[in-house]
Amino acid sequence: MALKNNDKFKEKLKHFWRRGDEVVCTRVFRNSNNECYFCGNKPIEWHHVLLNTISNQIIDVEFSCVILMKKMMEEIGSSQKILFFPKYTIEVDHLNKQYQGTADIIEFICNIDIIRRLISNPKDLSYKQVRSILDYTIKFEGGTEEEEIFHTALDLYLDRKYYVYEMIDDHKKTNNVKRDIENYFREEWEKYKYQDDKYYPESCTLKKKNDDCPF
Ligand SMILES: [Zn+2]
Repeated sequence: MALKNNDKFKEKLKHFWRRGDEVVCTRVFRNSNNECYFCGNKPIEWHHVLLNTISNQIIDVEFSCVILMKKMMEEIGSSQKILFFPKYTIEVDHLNKQYQGTADIIEFICNIDIIRRLISNPKDLSYKQVRSILDYTIKFEGGTEEEEIFHTALDLYLDRKYYVYEMIDDHKKTNNVKRDIENYFREEWEKYKYQDDKYYPESCTLKKKNDDCPF
């Protein structure tokens, strides 16, 4: 982006993010006519849906503008990285190859005892935790405890309308939110499970730094 547009970019950033706010990429997808929040380009090739977890504002941003945003945040003196769920490991690597330190992975303990404890206190669960539980439990079927927890987490996700954070609105076409969102999770899981076994790596542990982590 040319330097003369930087003021416009900074102005847009100011409306979306303030120093100290956390930014989570809730979804990466292709093919849509949305325009990039920052530069206005359309169509975007690689959409990155970004959520400010403090204000709950969401924006749709192209790959190159995610990097530019990170650079602008650094200019302001912030070391905040854009956080991604573990299934987006490849996207995180890709961003960090372009500009080191742009992105980081939300780490989450994939342990049924911990997940059971989390889900028993739903009011304390954040979006990041609900989404991580869904991503982990979607692979279990056949009346397992994990499958039961998946449905409990799915009800929370729907009640709180978290699908808005991920710009998932396909259900508007069929008017069956629950079924469509469940299908979406299943498709996502199918898409990512063969990705170098990295969907949930061995080192799948929770970082202490996450404020919404109860441990
Ligand atoms: Zn852009």
